[in-house]
Amino acid sequence: MASGGEFDFIRTRLGPLTRNHAAALGLSDDAAVLDPPEGCQLVLACDTLVAGVHFRADDPPETAASRAMRSNLSDMAAMGAEPLGYLSALTWPRDIAPDWRDAFVAGLAAEQDRFGVPLLGGDTTSTPGPMTVTLTLIGSVPQGAALTRGGAAADDDIWVSGTIGDAALGLAAQEGEAGAPAELIDRYTRPESRLELGRALRGLASAAIDISDGLLADAGHIAETSGLALTIEAGDVPLSAPARTWLAGAGEGGLGRLLTGGDDYELLFTAPPAHRAAIAALAGAHMPLTRIGRAEAGAGVVCRDASGETLKIDRDGFTHF
Ligand SMILES: [Mg+2]
Repeated sequence: MASGGEFDFIRTRLGPLTRNHAAALGLSDDAAVLDPPEGCQLVLACDTLVAGVHFRADDPPETAASRAMRSNLSDMAAMGAEPLGYLSALTWPRDIAPDWRDAFVAGLAAEQDRFGVPLLGGDTTSTPGPMTVTLTLIGSVPQGAALTRGGAAADDDIWVSGTIGDAALGLAAQEGEAGAPAELIDRYTRPESRLELGRALRGLASAAIDISDGLLADAGHIAETSGLALTIEAGDVPLSAPARTWLAGAGEGGLGRLLTGGDDYELLFTAPPAHRAAIAALAGAHMPLTRIGRAEAGAGVVCRDASGETLKIDRDGFTHF
């Protein structure tokens, strides 16, 4: 993009996304200048999505925008942070259709307004390669209140929000896989960001992570960072009605696929048993909170079936009995 065109794009398309937030300085300066809320720490997270890797190259622009924003907001949720704004680095393919670009920006606008996060600054450039979107979210937490992966203690409960495996099935449905439930496509294209839950878990959860790599892999991150073993009861993992129906016909490997499927962006967290009632009270009709296991001395993640037998599930989700 010629620099004249780039300036024009920033002024006419990205400028309105600041929603006149003072920190953005009208996108006309070298950097943004943000006042952190009093008594708070800043929480910073950055995530890159590449067309053909993190979203499908033929996804509509609105899907690319919503996945970029929500995967980033999910990291804020996992930290218990309140998002304040974001920076965007947008790298367009040289032959990008102006309509696609404008629809992407409109999608970003809809997403940021839904979550109340203004654009504070960024960069645009072009590439002979694929569309690449990097968003940097800036959030805040009261001093010392951030949720991290490292705070779990032995005998803590393991909890998960929402239902697990829906995004993986939604992606499969979108890719035309026979039997994959089409009603779950939304769970892949527009995953919920559990921001409100993350904030409510400050002082209750001992460790937290958002599920981007898959339930078992992300449980492994808590186990490793906290220096503990996490035992998960597979039969207690909450599944949506379409996922349960799919699982009934999926045969061996079906459960493993749900437990290792990425992109759900639900929160996985640990908490002392003393907080059970307070945590259960945070659940809502559209957001169950389910206890799925326990942290113990040891290392790694153990997944057990209803009879207490250990399930062996490999990286690809295949279950070995
Ligand atoms: Mg994360």
